[in-house]
Parts: sequence; C-alpha cells; structure tokens
Amino acid sequence: MKIFCIGRNYALHAKELGNAIPESPVVFMKPATALLKNNMPFFYPEFSAAIEFEAELVLKVAKNGKHIQAKFAKDYYDEITVGIDFTARDLQSKLKEKGLPWELAKAFDQSAVLGEFITVNQLKNKEAIPFSLHKNGSKVQEGNSQDVLFSFDELICFISQYFTLQAGDLIYTGTPAGVAKIAIGEKYEGFLEDKKVFECEIK
Ligand code: ZN
Repeated sequence: MKIFCIGRNYALHAKELGNAIPESPVVFMKPATALLKNNMPFFYPEFSAAIEFEAELVLKVAKNGKHIQAKFAKDYYDEITVGIDFTARDLQSKLKEKGLPWELAKAFDQSAVLGEFITVNQLKNKEAIPFSLHKNGSKVQEGNSQDVLFSFDELICFISQYFTLQAGDLIYTGTPAGVAKIAIGEKYEGFLEDKKVFECEIK
C-alpha cells in the first residue's frame, strides 16, 4: 500500500508558503507507518517545534492501473475522505533550503491522519466537494475540490505515468490555504461536506 501526497495543489496555499504555482503536480510519498486511523491521538514528536496541520481530501484507489488516461481516471477511485498531512514545518524549511528531500518533515510516524471513507456516489456534488477542519470546535481551515490546480482525474493520470497504482493506495490531494501550528491539548475534527469523518487529539 502506497500513500501519495500532492504539494501546492491550491494556489492560495502555495502563495502563503512563498512557493511558485507548479506547472505539473508536486508528488511525494509517505510510508504505511505514517497512517493515523480510527480517531487515535497524535503524539507530538520531540524532533519538531512547529508541526502544522494540512487538511486534505483523500482518495482511495479502487483498482490497479498504470498509464491511466484522464478520461478513464474516474474508474480508479470510488471512495473519499478527509485527512491531515501533518508537516514539521521547521524541518521542512531547513531541508528545502538545502535542496534535500522532505521525508523527515512529512513522512514520519502518525503524519497521515485518515478519516472514515464514504463512497464518491454518496457526495452531493462530485465536482465541488467542500471539506473543513475544526480545532476545539471552531473552523480553522476549509477548502473545496473545485479550487484545485490539478483535478483528481489529472492527478490519477499523472501519478500513474510513473507509479503503478494499486487498489488501496491513498492520494492526499493537497491542502488549501490556512495551515497553522498545532499544540498539545488541542482536539481536531475533520468534515467532508457536513459529515464528521475523524477526530484527533494532540497529546
Ligand atoms: Zn499536504
């Protein structure tokens, strides 16, 4: 099982981190050990003093495929949820400065919160999917799939030119603007449309 993540897929988020708008999707990966499921708490790691949340729509790959054409991409994902791509922003900034890979800042244990999946067919509007993240009961980040730079179909097409997609693989599709630091004691909840799909306490 592979976890793909897309960076800078919302223009306003690329801007808030001072990054250029990408010409093709920015792809990185996390290992299966990064997953944090079933509303388990997140334990703040000692190696960072600036863990930030990035709330994202997450697709589950439905069947194996490679070199998938965009017009067939919809057949390759049938479930969706919201997750968090926890990022050690202090480490990431240092790594980016040196031109080094991001894994230490992005792929560590528990860095991929995953909500409960719903089938794409249950969505009210597949072309404009709203999602949000709440901290201690107040909304701190919200997004809508209609604002992405690269659509889900384009992502499936692009990724599968390089990697064989396998049933069960996950794709974190990028975060909208509004990322911020987390702190011990906070409680986060993810919403897909108006349905709560996860909660996560920071310990
Ligand atoms: Zn992200």
